[in-house]
Amino acid sequence: MNDRQLERALPGEIRSRQQERLRAHLTYACANSSFYRRRFQDAGLDPDILTLEGLSKLPFTSKEEVENNLSEFQAAGANDIADLCLTSGTTGAPLALPQSRQDLERLAYNEEMGFRTAGVGEKDRVLIAAAIDRCFMAGLAYFLGVQKLGATALRGGSSSLSNLQDMVLRQHPTAMVGVPSLLLALGRKMKAEGIEPSTTSVERLVCIGEPVRQADLSSSRLGATLEALWRVPIFGTYASTEMATAFTECEKGQGGHLRPELIVLELVDEAGRSVPDGELGEVVVTPLGVTGLPLIRFRTGDLARLHTSPCDCGRNTPRLGPVEGRLNQRLKVRGTTLYPPAIALALQQIDGVQGHYVEVRNGFDLSDEVRVFVGTTDPFLTPERLTEAIAGVTRVSLPVELVSPEAVQRRIHQENCRKPVTFFDLRSSFPEDDHHAVESEEGNE
Ligand SMILES: [Zn+2]
Repeated sequence: MNDRQLERALPGEIRSRQQERLRAHLTYACANSSFYRRRFQDAGLDPDILTLEGLSKLPFTSKEEVENNLSEFQAAGANDIADLCLTSGTTGAPLALPQSRQDLERLAYNEEMGFRTAGVGEKDRVLIAAAIDRCFMAGLAYFLGVQKLGATALRGGSSSLSNLQDMVLRQHPTAMVGVPSLLLALGRKMKAEGIEPSTTSVERLVCIGEPVRQADLSSSRLGATLEALWRVPIFGTYASTEMATAFTECEKGQGGHLRPELIVLELVDEAGRSVPDGELGEVVVTPLGVTGLPLIRFRTGDLARLHTSPCDCGRNTPRLGPVEGRLNQRLKVRGTTLYPPAIALALQQIDGVQGHYVEVRNGFDLSDEVRVFVGTTDPFLTPERLTEAIAGVTRVSLPVELVSPEAVQRRIHQENCRKPVTFFDLRSSFPEDDHHAVESEEGNE
């Protein structure tokens, strides 16, 4: 059985293939990355005999460790590096991850299989509404994937709705891949100009960067609105530059399928113990077969749930639900823990809401002071109603301030950011520094 069919193999075979790949990956990392050589030595472990079950004997790898020891992580020689992909560092400075020639091959295979899972095949014309320049991985990965698939790529980019609209109308793509809020804005623009999106050649939307589902895997308001506007099936995905692997939904739309030949996934609690299926945990990944900058047990900071019940599509691989929050965006309000995406989900349910952002500052008694700014022009929308709607989802009453939709757009679209930023963390670990943080933030505007 080849890798392409592995997802339909029996669980035992999937596991033994994954085990084989893991061992090869660990052996390579230990032999070629000085960071991991030291790590195996310190742990007194031999990569040749480490199993999937024994992987937890190795410590996690944090984003900070990668940031501070980039050259020690790099495993491929300079001659083998074909491309650099930028990711955002923890301090805001971008981090350039070296991609070997083999990594680009792997990336192409990964995206080919992602497209196939979403029903995209060689006959398709795929409009890629994601940036390929500025060293971003997304646009490059989708372009390579379309090539490997044998389909036709239309490199639309993500910067101009008019350009994307032209491409839809003149080049007749059958599939589009992009951030769902961008695909929504495109559909709305077309509708406003008298063009019905559902009458175009587009047959499916592959959504990247933002979840289109809720924790129970039902469509989020964003997902449902997008689907209703284009009247085509939508497919959620989850991926990141560091993991260089995508979890893509099949036609059943029940979370992104894991590719066992490309990645080992763990979901862990705060103490680093694995959480039971269906429970929220931090996504920890070991992307298999990466040679430029191999990673083992990398903590993503993303929180999601794993679903292992069989999928009706016939694949025997587990599925990852939507990202429900990020660890560094955890909010603690009067004893209750919540994450900004829950606020976004609540606001999506309400007509008249045109964008929002959240600010958090240090409050009293270890409670965070959270303020939600909502853009609207609807005279009937009151802060009280919005507070109530948010409490309906999060069980916490948060103060809401109404602002103009333009003010929201100005705040959330920042230079050098790929995605709109809707969460502003003005907390400091030292409460006495708090007003400095606030002043400098306001001084920037
Ligand atoms: Zn499925």
